[in-house]
Amino acid sequence: ERKAALAASTGPGQTSDGHMVPLLANVGGPGDLPAALEAGAEGVGLFRTEFLFLDDSKQAPAEDVQVEAYRKVLEAFPEGRVVVRVLDAGADKPLDFLTPSDEPNPALGVRGLRTLLEHPEVLRTQLRALARAAEGLPVYLEVMAPMVADRQDAKAFADACREAGLRAKFGAMVEIPSAALRARSILEEVEFLSLGTNDLAQYTFAADRQVGAVARLQDPWQPALLDLVALSAEAARATGKSCGVCGEAASDPVLACVLTGLGVTSLSMGAASIPYVRAQLAKVTLAQCERAAAAARATDSAAEARAAASQVLSGE
Ligand code: PEP
Ligand code: MG
Repeated sequence: ERKAALAASTGPGQTSDGHMVPLLANVGGPGDLPAALEAGAEGVGLFRTEFLFLDDSKQAPAEDVQVEAYRKVLEAFPEGRVVVRVLDAGADKPLDFLTPSDEPNPALGVRGLRTLLEHPEVLRTQLRALARAAEGLPVYLEVMAPMVADRQDAKAFADACREAGLRAKFGAMVEIPSAALRARSILEEVEFLSLGTNDLAQYTFAADRQVGAVARLQDPWQPALLDLVALSAEAARATGKSCGVCGEAASDPVLACVLTGLGVTSLSMGAASIPYVRAQLAKVTLAQCERAAAAARATDSAAEARAAASQVLSGE
């Protein structure tokens, strides 16, 4: 029965009463495209570009090499949306030639956008390659920066995009609590937000995502994390902009409904999760999602939040 329900799950993501929630794929390179297309992804919500930088420990790939790789991904979704994340080096994704090796706390050091602002030539080359890759394609390109901490970061990234002649929407990932708390001011500089809930959980709970002993605090059902999602989504809604989720949280079908209820406008996940999320969303109304979100936020633990939301969504 479960199989039949999944097979019947095609088309765009939407609740039973027609509230649209685009379901996008997280991809790590062109090799992930067939699965994304097969799952019926409506686009790419997180293109992790790190894979391109792993082959050479001394330097960034040449602009032409980057153009070719980006074009493959952009071509896979003609008329669709592709959200590209610029290089996210450092911490759990160290790169020899960019990441300082002497930091006491790499997760709190120079990583993500911070790395790119210290190496503007790497950012410039990547943005130019993206601009060239998108040339002549009807794709709806969005480019976002990882680890944006404040408005100054968001402005520096948007300026770099403009200087590179990029014709795309520029966005900021919300992965640091400061960005969620001040989402409104970050949205003065960029056109969309995307919540990286893996890092947002890590920094909200001071719990290293690579340390199993603190995994309890990495649970995306934690009410404090839901509060930060709500703040970000509310800021986006107030300014008429979009706020997606591209962390692991989006791949849990029940949590996907809660995120929708919090006002999140798109969900991006590993392709394998898309049919499950699509099937679950199709069973509930937007009002149910909103009630489930409120019920989850009214609790004090991840387990209670999950139970409360599940109860509302199953109509009990
Ligand atoms: C995240 O932090 O939630 C995210 C999507 O990025 P990554 O897992 O690549 O850090
Ligand atoms: Mg991250």
